[in-house]
Amino acid sequence: MSEPTLFQKIIDGEVDADIVYDDDHCVAFRDINPQAPTHILIVPRKPIPSLDDLQEEDREIVGHLFIAARNIARDEGLRDGYRTVINCGDDGGQTVYHLHLHLLGGRRMDWPPG
Ligand code: C5P
Repeated sequence: MSEPTLFQKIIDGEVDADIVYDDDHCVAFRDINPQAPTHILIVPRKPIPSLDDLQEEDREIVGHLFIAARNIARDEGLRDGYRTVINCGDDGGQTVYHLHLHLLGGRRMDWPPG
């Protein structure tokens, strides 16, 4: 068995996090190193390592993450827009290998990203 990821430990309540939302399929908490006034990570309870590891059976989970992001953005008052990001793999900038959706808002975003 591989060591549980940091996000798995947060899901399991073994590591503290500022949790803003959770349900049967996902947990959402504030990023410890925020890149915008609102920066929340939405993490499926299922330990899928990355976008590249998605299976057909995960379709509903992925849709669920985005609906959760939309609802959290509303709760956070992000009326002027926001950005969602999924980093995948080393070149994609992924550092924690438990799939997660970044929700960033509260400032105007640049494009292209770095
Ligand atoms: O997409 P990526 O894998 O790089 O994102 C991981 C995110 O997890 C980073 O934004 C980082 O700040 C965040 N993080 C966190 N709490 C930790 C360690 C990392 O919120 N203890």
